[in-house]
Amino acid sequence: MKFTEEYRNPELGQRLLARIRHNSTQPIKLMEFCGGHTTAIFKHGIRQLLPANIEMLSGPGCPVCVTANADLDHVIAFAQLPDVIIATFGDMIRVPGSYSSLQMAKAEGGDIRVVYSTQDALQIAKDNPDKSVIFVGIGFETTAPAIAASILQAERENIPNYYVISLHKLTPPIMKAILDLGEIGLNGIICPGHVSAIIGSHPYQFIPDNYNIACVVTGFEPLDILLGVDMLTSQIETGQYKVEIAYRRGVKPEGNKQAIKIMTTVFEAGAANWRGIGTVPNSGLKINSNYQRFDPDNNFHVVTHPPKEAAGCVCGSILRGVKTPLDCPLFRNTCTPADPVGPCMVSAEGSCATYYHYGDNL
Ligand code: SF4
Repeated sequence: MKFTEEYRNPELGQRLLARIRHNSTQPIKLMEFCGGHTTAIFKHGIRQLLPANIEMLSGPGCPVCVTANADLDHVIAFAQLPDVIIATFGDMIRVPGSYSSLQMAKAEGGDIRVVYSTQDALQIAKDNPDKSVIFVGIGFETTAPAIAASILQAERENIPNYYVISLHKLTPPIMKAILDLGEIGLNGIICPGHVSAIIGSHPYQFIPDNYNIACVVTGFEPLDILLGVDMLTSQIETGQYKVEIAYRRGVKPEGNKQAIKIMTTVFEAGAANWRGIGTVPNSGLKINSNYQRFDPDNNFHVVTHPPKEAAGCVCGSILRGVKTPLDCPLFRNTCTPADPVGPCMVSAEGSCATYYHYGDNL
């Protein structure tokens, strides 16, 4: 397949691996931030191919997984209101909150609809003028522009019953929070390709500057990832830390200015609650003062109980790179993709689901 096969060329992969093996002389700890990278790394067996001195950790880049139970509970409470339709991407449906899930709320009579785009959600709002449609906005900088655009469209087309609960998260602030925790001693970060297509590579510059940690933005094919590891290894071995792009076909240093403009027209940075990490200032996107009428919290009142975590689930530690799913006693026992205990087993980008599907050789 054009634009895929050339990035899966085994011969080029072997050459990159040989160079990585030759150049890496010391223990190296890398983190892939993005859940999409974790899945690609496992699917293509990249961990097993790398030399033993290179350790790969998975980070907090799975939007469903990092959504805190308190926020899930809040969404589920909206779903229990009369005359409210919740529109959400499919992977949110099965994520367990503290006491329930959207799936359970649906079984109890809630009107919850899986959508594939914000256009679907807007259409539901147009088709149901006597109901209020709340779209669950989760994701990183990748999805935020499209969701911001849906708010602009609703304003333009005067769709009065469309709302967005913004649980968006921002990548650079959480990278900083994880580095400041000082729990994992990283040498390099594989920066997310899709997020960087929006924000560019400049926002990561504080990482080499302030932490002496290598950064490379990579794509999601095996050669993209191996090239990224090769570039990270080279930075680490030479001690010349910087931000590089191994994904030039998708990412420009300055990002996508039009997408950033749409995103910042509607949203502003605010505190966000991260599973396993807690509240981090300016690490989320909130609807700004010009678009408050789209914020369901200004229009509906819900009451939630204090959040609680599933007993035994170590998703929070996995998202910080401190533990892996293999450290969880519930993994593959009581927690499986068919019957998930925590969000990391629900989402296709969650570490536990990835280990479950592809981690047999670890
Ligand atoms: Fe949580 Fe299940 Fe992962 Fe354990 S295996 S950390 S219970 S999601």
